[in-house]
Amino acid sequence: MNTLEEVEISCPACGEGISLLIDCCDLGQQYVEDCPVCCAPMVLTVQPEPDGDIRVEASREGD
Ligand SMILES: [Zn+2]
Repeated sequence: MNTLEEVEISCPACGEGISLLIDCCDLGQQYVEDCPVCCAPMVLTVQPEPDGDIRVEASREGD
């Protein structure tokens, strides 16, 4: 069974807040997602926090 976690990030291109559903299986992974607001591709890095939460860092593709 997969657990999906809702995470809030800010788009690195347009700054809009975006809600993402992160699969816990994605921990430690990097993947590219298009911003639903401005359509710019952003690189998402999914990292586990010590308290069990999930942290997602978004950066512009190519940085
Ligand atoms: Zn955007």
